Amino acid sequence: MSLVTMVDLLVIGGGPAGLSAALTFSRLKRSCVLYDSGLYRNAGVAHSHTISGFENADPDDFRSKMRQDLKDYYSDTLEYRKGLITSLKKSDGGFKASDDQGRDVVARKVVLATGLKDHLPDIEGVTEQWGKRIIHCIFCHGTETANLPFAFLFTKSNSYMNARLVDTMLKLWRSLKHTDRYILTDGMDVETEQGRKDAGLEEQYDLIKKLGYKIVSSKITSVKENSEKTSLEIKFDNHDPISVPNMLLFPERFTPSSDAAPLLTEELLGAQLQAWGTIAPPSSGLGASGMPPRMGDDPKTNVRGLFWAGNSGSAAANYTISLAQGQAAGGMAGDQLGEDDLAKL
Ligand SMILES: Cc1cc2nc3c(=O)[nH]c(=O)nc-3n(C[C@H](O)[C@H](O)[C@H](O)COP(=O)(O)OP(=O)(O)OC[C@H]3O[C@@H](n4cnc5c(N)ncnc54)[C@H](O)[C@@H]3O)c2cc1C
Repeated sequence: MSLVTMVDLLVIGGGPAGLSAALTFSRLKRSCVLYDSGLYRNAGVAHSHTISGFENADPDDFRSKMRQDLKDYYSDTLEYRKGLITSLKKSDGGFKASDDQGRDVVARKVVLATGLKDHLPDIEGVTEQWGKRIIHCIFCHGTETANLPFAFLFTKSNSYMNARLVDTMLKLWRSLKHTDRYILTDGMDVETEQGRKDAGLEEQYDLIKKLGYKIVSSKITSVKENSEKTSLEIKFDNHDPISVPNMLLFPERFTPSSDAAPLLTEELLGAQLQAWGTIAPPSSGLGASGMPPRMGDDPKTNVRGLFWAGNSGSAAANYTISLAQGQAAGGMAGDQLGEDDLAKL
């Protein structure tokens, strides 16, 4: 077996963005290899929502179906490899990558579909419940929490994200008619101006009080599922425990995953990562959601031949948007290859 694979396109990442990039690109009958190390952002989530045709599906089933389609229809030009790309550099006419089994890949174009890592507040029990009883998005998992008690957790380290949380809490979550609505500020004293500022509650504090949200400012000591497995038991330093079936939090920050971080250097990308930990598209800025644009103008990077798709370039992209970005990246990689080939004629 040759230790060097030469392909038109290398796709790094086999979540929805990378699988979609590979599918679209495969329509061109050009050679492609896709690597996936399998650390999906929504690992551990049992049911996904808003994926048309797959409503309430296990995300593992969705990815399996996409992989099977690639195998059934495109295995003549596409190779799927379960594994890790450990280095990626620009080289003459394209890119050179190495994997964790000592193999090299020389590719004319690359799609980075490497996802993101969510950083959660350091509170006992939070990581264990992430994607289960602790959720971050109304469209992904909110509807199921309707007509029950609910808590919103504000975290100290990111007043910008807290302000986004207030916005979504007031505009979107109220239609779910939670019977009790708690705001947990984990030690930020919202009776003070500084506490309201840290919690991102400055502008809407009076409205929130008027709407009857119950604010608990005490520091949280633990968040655990109760023994009947029906609710979260939230304990505080200086307040009686509360019991809610579900809680919302926004991650404090995002970074590339540990598998992707070594690849996404300034040297490779021609630009630093954005504050959100995402790859900077050539035209950057905040989109309508207050996050980097969900679609992006296009999935290019600052380096010709290098594309992004999904959460690697767009923290707010869900499955469907990641699929669309993957499709755009796969299509554009093919378009550029055609352009390069024409220039050689
Ligand atoms: C708790 C939670 C629940 C969610 N629920 C929903 C939902 O219900 N509906 C919805 O639409 N969206 C949901 N999302 C969002 C969804 O997870 C993302 O939109 C989606 O995973 C983004 O896809 P992606 O392909 O960009 O990244 P990912 O799915 O994270 O895939 C990235 C892949 O790249 C691999 N990779 C990284 N570096 C390397 C490397 N060097 N070599 C090889 N492979 C590498 C990773 O291991 C991983 O397998 C949820 C997110 C979270 C956190």
